[in-house]
Amino acid sequence: MNNKAMVYLVGAGPGDSALITVKGKHCLQRAEVVLYDRLCNPALLGYASPAAELIYVGKNMGHHPLPQEQINALLVAKARQNKVVVRLKGGDPFVFGRGGEEVDALVDAGVAFEVVPGITAGFAAGAYAGIPLTHRDFTTSVTLITGHLNTRKDPQRDIDWLALGRGRGTLVFYMGLTTIATICRQLIEHGRPPTTPVAVISHATTSQQRTLIATLEDAAHQVERERVTSPAVILVGEVVQMHKRLDWFQQRLTPPVGMEAAAEVAVKNTAGTETAGATPAATAADASARKNILIFTGAGKGKSTSAFGMALRAVGHGQRVRILQFIKNDPSVGELAALRQLGVQTEQCGLGFVPKAEHPHYPAHQQAAAQGLSRAAADIFSGNYDLIILDEICGAVAQGLLDEDDVADLLRRAPAPITLVLTGRHATPALIKLADTVSTIQPLKHAFEQGIPARKGVEF
Ligand code: SAH
Repeated sequence: MNNKAMVYLVGAGPGDSALITVKGKHCLQRAEVVLYDRLCNPALLGYASPAAELIYVGKNMGHHPLPQEQINALLVAKARQNKVVVRLKGGDPFVFGRGGEEVDALVDAGVAFEVVPGITAGFAAGAYAGIPLTHRDFTTSVTLITGHLNTRKDPQRDIDWLALGRGRGTLVFYMGLTTIATICRQLIEHGRPPTTPVAVISHATTSQQRTLIATLEDAAHQVERERVTSPAVILVGEVVQMHKRLDWFQQRLTPPVGMEAAAEVAVKNTAGTETAGATPAATAADASARKNILIFTGAGKGKSTSAFGMALRAVGHGQRVRILQFIKNDPSVGELAALRQLGVQTEQCGLGFVPKAEHPHYPAHQQAAAQGLSRAAADIFSGNYDLIILDEICGAVAQGLLDEDDVADLLRRAPAPITLVLTGRHATPALIKLADTVSTIQPLKHAFEQGIPARKGVEF
């Protein structure tokens, strides 16, 4: 038997699915088995062949992650079945990812492997928060440190605070959100000035990215107050000052000055409005301050196309539009290319055609949809958008990828004056009840039925 057994340890990058390497993507396309965990963007699994076995080995909703030894053993076992295996790991596989241990096990077992680097979270966070990790005016070195301070159990992993405190180099702490108070205290005790700037960057490179700027003295307090959620990296050093000038990514997401205040007022004005449908008939004057929910559903062609037409209309009025596509995962479709040219941020939160619930890939589709919904929630509450299209979300509910109650809850809580457009077949009665405008597109005929294949510019 020809021996093609191979394990690729692939860095998935920090979050944005476009930040995987070309080589990493090729490995995924070739893989027969993919082992992936929590920090990998599930959209990347869309590159794997539909026949590939996808194995989730991370923590999930109260379940414990697979112990490292079992992951190692699984990699060896799959390789011994003469399979091409991808072990997809968040960021870079050799930065705090226990990739070294996995490769060690492969060497022991005599299994061939390659390591495909990825963009590590600390580097990506610096880039996306406008904080160069080195800068001629401030520092010449960077140190990556784990904030997982379990030194009583394992004194080998003791951190040399003296060295860190004495230097001027930029410090990047991973896994440090829960230990930030200790980190900051130790650095001050060992010589860093309490006024040293600190940036805590969470969900870097995704639409949920947040950057909290503080000092060593108050960072822990601020993290608690602002309820920063993981994953997050902590950057310490004078380079953090650059954020103010160079923050390009979040500035693009942030509304112009004054908009936030306007949004807040609007939320207050509509407080107590349980459902859009329950609001008394709006007068022309306050109509623009209400939230507005539209659904395009039915079995005919033209649901998403109608929503994209509305996006065009909104962009023409200078409104800020965001599009999240559920189920879909083909980045080459024309609408995305056009909308991106117009500066509309689009994101695909699907893995393509949804298989039956019994299919082993089905949980990965559910996970991608769940991640899409939490992105949608973050975007809806960000105050950064006037119109958000949740393309194919009705289909995602109908196919059991999303819970109807979760989607309904989000629609209810969405703050005015946002417009939400939902598309997809089989919109459920609960969603229809919450919407202000619902159109069903009914098929009379479709070229497809006469054997005419999908056409560029018409179907995709
Ligand atoms: N191998 C990964 C690190 C794994 S350890 C890499 O190279 O990036 C997990 C830690 O990475 C998290 O606790 C957090 O500190 C950091 N991290 C991962 N993704 C992140 C993201 N999108 N934003 C901020 N920090 C992230």
